[in-house]
Amino acid sequence: MDFRLSEEQLAFQAHCHRFAEEVMRPAAAKHDRDQSVPWEVIKQAREWDLHGLELLQKMATDSEGLLGVMYAEELHWGCAGIALAISASSLAAAGIASSGTPEQIGRWVPECYGLGDEIKIGAYAVTEAGAGSDVKSLRTTAKRDGDEWVINGTKVFISNGGIADVNVVVATVDPELGHRGQASFIVPKGTPGLSMGKKEDKLGIRASQTAEVVLEDCRVPLDHLLGGMDKLERKLERARTGQSGGASNALATFEVTRPLVGASALGIAQAAYDWTLDWLEGREYEGEPLVDQQRVQQVLADVATELDAARLLVWRAAWMGRNGVPMTAGQGSMSKLKAGDVAMWATTALMDLVGPEASLTDHPLEKFFRDAKIYQLFEGTAQIQRLVISRMQVTERRRRLDEAAEVLADVAAAQNGKVGRAAQATVAGAAS
Ligand SMILES: Cc1cc2nc3c(=O)[nH]c(=O)nc-3n(C[C@H](O)[C@H](O)[C@H](O)COP(=O)(O)OP(=O)(O)OC[C@H]3O[C@@H](n4cnc5c(N)ncnc54)[C@H](O)[C@@H]3O)c2cc1C
Repeated sequence: MDFRLSEEQLAFQAHCHRFAEEVMRPAAAKHDRDQSVPWEVIKQAREWDLHGLELLQKMATDSEGLLGVMYAEELHWGCAGIALAISASSLAAAGIASSGTPEQIGRWVPECYGLGDEIKIGAYAVTEAGAGSDVKSLRTTAKRDGDEWVINGTKVFISNGGIADVNVVVATVDPELGHRGQASFIVPKGTPGLSMGKKEDKLGIRASQTAEVVLEDCRVPLDHLLGGMDKLERKLERARTGQSGGASNALATFEVTRPLVGASALGIAQAAYDWTLDWLEGREYEGEPLVDQQRVQQVLADVATELDAARLLVWRAAWMGRNGVPMTAGQGSMSKLKAGDVAMWATTALMDLVGPEASLTDHPLEKFFRDAKIYQLFEGTAQIQRLVISRMQVTERRRRLDEAAEVLADVAAAQNGKVGRAAQATVAGAAS
């Protein structure tokens, strides 16, 4: 195991950090105050090679999978709201990449970013009132009508909702089948019946637009069904005949994407820690430097340790995801859970350290504190992460116990002169 970063990783991390410091930080307060979309920063991200298809390709070349989490952490260090405005399109792109045919991926993923100087954005619309954690209860329907799908429903809390060029909408084609009766559809901007509902006024990440997406008799061509008709029919047939389906695939996909969300939370916590260290430097209380006071040292040590613990979980999960190591013990969810909790706890502890002035509306810690909260609430709440982790832990333990029992049975059979498969392998291994 080698914990040192490569030259390329270090250079990419430094480039992201410079963008966060020089471009994002100066724009952060205005977009936070106005809840405005930071188009000019998104454009500059493109110029810095930090937005778009080429960036995706670059990240795909990293065999350790760390460039993605470094990017998320550094940009969220700059401003979490702007960072989400820059990167929310990736949710839509990931939805297309995980469900679409190669032709659909080639056609629609570029539409989530735009090419050349053109900036486009995407939205991934799943959540509805009463169906977020409980995703099987979605009520948005998609019904086939000749050569078209007709979609009806209202999505809530959608990042880039109402302004996206491409919406990936998850709808039910057979409500009785729960999540197995659902499919994803491309609904491009300008489709008749597609509109923006209520734009939310939020506590944090205010530079990222969150709004309802309303679909009223929205008609899209048949080829806008991601994965295509044959795949959907096979999936529905499996569900109707009680065969096992793709629930575990969805869980596996979430395990791979959650470290990115964890890294985002980590960026906010690191920003709060860095700001506090700067603030402490040179400050004294009754003639003693604040950094030498034990009450201060206790907090700094705990924050630094928690940050590193969360980062190690995030990097491990990112590495496992990239290298195809199954996260059967919930390692992806652990990374998001820990980083989200650390972000909320650390921003609170650092505010307490600095005192009441940190609660004023133009104070950096006040913004980090507001931005941190959402990481315990979206992309799977902290409670849901805990459910996922504990279920995966129990399943994983049962699998290991079953494996161990099998080996013991084989050994017992071998001792009785009937050499089982596992024992044969053990004997062959020992002989070689
Ligand atoms: C700013 C923002 C941006 C978002 N962006 C998007 C987006 O781009 N696309 C999208 O589709 N969605 C988006 N969401 C939605 C978000 O992912 C959901 O709100 C979130 O997953 C929670 O789902 P919910 O709203 O149904 O809450 P609920 O599930 O109703 O949660 C309410 C409470 O109940 C708890 N709870 C629920 N079920 C259980 C259980 N079984 N055991 C224990 N506790 C439980 C939850 O943890 C929570 O504390 C966004 C939300 C916000 C606030």
